[in-house]
Amino acid sequence: MTDKITVGGVSVDTRHWIGGERVASTDTFTDVSPIDGSTIGEISRGTATEAAAAVTAAKAAFPAWAATSRTERARILHAIADGVEKRLEELAIVETTDNGALLRSHRRGVMPRVAHNFRFFADWLLKLDHEDFETRGHTNHVSWDPAGPCVLITPWNAPLMLATWKVAPALAAGNTVVLKPAEWSPLTASLLADIAAEAGLPAGVLNVVQGYGSEIGDALTSHPDVRRISFTGSVPTARRITESAAANLTPLSLELGGKSPLLVFADADLDLAVDLAVEQYDNAGQVCLAATRFLVEESVAEEFTRRFVERASGLKQGDPRDEATDIGPTIHPRQLEKIDGFVQRAVAAGARAVIGGHREGSQYYAPTLLTGVAQDSEIVQEEVFGPVLTLQTFPTEEEAVRLANDTRFGLAATVATGDPERAERVTAQLVAGTVWVNCFFIRDLRAPFGGARQSGVGREGGNWSFDFYCDVKNTVTAP
Ligand code: NAD
Repeated sequence: MTDKITVGGVSVDTRHWIGGERVASTDTFTDVSPIDGSTIGEISRGTATEAAAAVTAAKAAFPAWAATSRTERARILHAIADGVEKRLEELAIVETTDNGALLRSHRRGVMPRVAHNFRFFADWLLKLDHEDFETRGHTNHVSWDPAGPCVLITPWNAPLMLATWKVAPALAAGNTVVLKPAEWSPLTASLLADIAAEAGLPAGVLNVVQGYGSEIGDALTSHPDVRRISFTGSVPTARRITESAAANLTPLSLELGGKSPLLVFADADLDLAVDLAVEQYDNAGQVCLAATRFLVEESVAEEFTRRFVERASGLKQGDPRDEATDIGPTIHPRQLEKIDGFVQRAVAAGARAVIGGHREGSQYYAPTLLTGVAQDSEIVQEEVFGPVLTLQTFPTEEEAVRLANDTRFGLAATVATGDPERAERVTAQLVAGTVWVNCFFIRDLRAPFGGARQSGVGREGGNWSFDFYCDVKNTVTAP
């Protein structure tokens, strides 16, 4: 195994980053590019041994980092953001090669947001207020104490964005971190380790380990010295992590899947509604927040569908490095297989593919819209995580809300309506962590982010992140 590989002209270390040093495992796993199925390289395959070493390093580095002043912690986080900005092009091409999402999105949207994650939590840390209350002459002093080593486990659909959404607040709060990226997209986390070291983050404060969830992931989440586990990924994995965290009662933050609706009322600006609808194919539909269930008022359903099909048919599918491409590949042939399975079973059960409904070669899935789907069918109830959308119609507002809420998920919902009173009524009834009205994917890091029902446990963002990553303490002092 070579320690370094070159990806899109960028050198990437394939080993773990533990205690400020590169550490290799004897075993490896193969990282494959979704663009064409080619092998990118062999990556260190961590086990319980590397998990223990990383947690030990994080534990050893914790006291000094926790005692580092807020201004110094914030300064280093800004320096990491500078490093991300300096290497933005490199991060973008490596991420695109590794996970197949559009290069233009990585350049213009995702990587700037990665830098922003660090800047935002650095600045928020400096604004975080200690609270004081008085009780019969006694002072209650509420402080945000760092919790300790945190294990952060992330998925492949937006690897560095989702990792830094956790790493930045965890470090800002004074914690040390063991980050395990997904085995289908391990590379940018390794680059982040380099950037953080160059920015002056002390050894052991950020550790990056690679490998399979069932191996090193399990060992990390069951480790007794871990004080927080923040996980983004699927519901079945969240169940397993919850079980392994139970032994030590380690607090968990879970950001999970969704089956979010887009409600289109007859009073909506239909052009806007179609814009919002077409956006759901972003990242080949591999977006947790994607509004994959279109619920359209009966009177405008035909017109909405006509305009949607016209727009969607113009989307260009292909190499994500090409600026003109709108839809890239799916992450892995296994994911493609899964997506096609969902679609074929839906069609067999009576659904009609208005567009798509088939693979495009070995890595791509045609953007698909299915109609004629029943509310209790698998395709309406289960997360597909591919470019597969369904369309159902509704006769009344009441029925729209009923359909929207009738899944086990509750991550997000989008409402297209021209009537502000309706917007207020409907959003109040929707079960979702985030609701967008006449817009989609607008995120403010000060606002809470998370899911209702099986879409998650807890909220992150602004103070909510510090609530999770800190042991909030009340010190009562006599007069
Ligand atoms: P996944 O659950 O298969 O894997 C996520 C991570 O968990 C990977 O790093 C994996 O190695 C690790 N893992 C697997 N088994 C483990 C175990 N037993 N112990 C510890 N770690 C383990 O999810 P995925 O397929 O990578 O990602 C897609 C899912 O993520 C979708 O359901 C999507 O909706 C969800 N997601 C949610 C959000 C959100 O913010 N709510 C954002 C992005 C993706």
